[in-house]
Amino acid sequence: MTAHVHEPVPVDESVGRRTVGHTDESTAVGRLRSAGIRVTNPRVAVLDVLEEARPRHEHLSAATVEERVRQRIGAISTQGVYDCLEALGSAHLVRTLEPAGQPALYESRVHDNHHHLVCRSCNLVTDIDCVVGESACLTPSSTNGFVVDEAEVTFWGLCPSCAASSATVARP
Ligand SMILES: [Zn+2]
Ligand SMILES: [Zn+2]
Repeated sequence: MTAHVHEPVPVDESVGRRTVGHTDESTAVGRLRSAGIRVTNPRVAVLDVLEEARPRHEHLSAATVEERVRQRIGAISTQGVYDCLEALGSAHLVRTLEPAGQPALYESRVHDNHHHLVCRSCNLVTDIDCVVGESACLTPSSTNGFVVDEAEVTFWGLCPSCAASSATVARP
């Protein structure tokens, strides 16, 4: 039997408010804690930036995340932003979307198996909800023995405004 020492999880007490007895997943600090990863100011700022973008259905590039994090906490290096995104991604707090021909995009909307529509012309990315509970898209015609728990579908096309302007151009 190995001795198991319960060491206190290192927490930056200057970050956020303290929670007593439970973790509050409505805050970035709470989410980081319940994911079991270290709470640092840059990670909190990155997650907050992505949470703010979420109601607007924005999917942010690392460059945009960096710009907005800098407005919040001042200096952060580009590598620092990537390190945070990587840590948050491994903790499943952030989802990465990699549309062909575009820089990777990040969002904090996770675990709902939603899909994306990408405009070929202006690169606009839109969320599409997957029917929760039905998960028809989790039933491929053959799983080859895999246990499937996630499907990632990217639909490509033209957004309404690009479709409208290309129709105008195509008209003789
Ligand atoms: Zn478009
Ligand atoms: Zn999305």
